[in-house]
Amino acid sequence: MSNVYASSHPLIAHKLTRLRDKATDPKKFRELVREISALLTFEATADLLLQPRHVDTPLAPITGWELKEKIGLVPILRAGLGMVEGVWNLMPSAEVWHIGLFRDEKTLKPVQYYNKLPVEPTVSVCLVLDPMLATGGSATASISILKQWGVSKIKFIGIIGAPEGIAMMEKNHPEVPIFLAAIDERLNEYGYILPGLGDAGDRQFGTG
Ligand code: URA
Repeated sequence: MSNVYASSHPLIAHKLTRLRDKATDPKKFRELVREISALLTFEATADLLLQPRHVDTPLAPITGWELKEKIGLVPILRAGLGMVEGVWNLMPSAEVWHIGLFRDEKTLKPVQYYNKLPVEPTVSVCLVLDPMLATGGSATASISILKQWGVSKIKFIGIIGAPEGIAMMEKNHPEVPIFLAAIDERLNEYGYILPGLGDAGDRQFGTG
């Protein structure tokens, strides 16, 4: 069974179209990235484990629930940064760990330039955040780093995926579920997703 989830939620479809629009300015773009990321996280976290928690309402005691697992958010620098806030608002006690990879323009392969993960894992679930699952190189490399770190439960949350990136993930990390707002047609010769939304980093940070 495929591990790829492409949302069909109307709110996500509406926001994604505004995100793709080249007329959308960086401020609105960042807002949309935040909102879409939060909506996708709702789906991606449906199987998080709970443990009982006793509280007193103003009227009576009740046994409710709290999250059991320690969650880490792992934005892939730099475009993943814009996804953090929307997800973090939903789970403020999550830890945020950064992995920096850039794509070599010639080989299109990921090169790691930042990784400050401690020796022992401090979380048991990691949500890897990168808006564009293009070649799949950065996502695959980041997930390999997290597996080596010792995290057993990893999920990937992106915004747009290309078939090429999804195939690479399915080959290298078939057990990692992928949550996306849309699956697009293909990559162009520069490794950009078509029709996509352009460069997600440049559009968030107003560069390029
Ligand atoms: N990274 C982006 O920002 N956009 C793409 O289309 C592919 C990779």
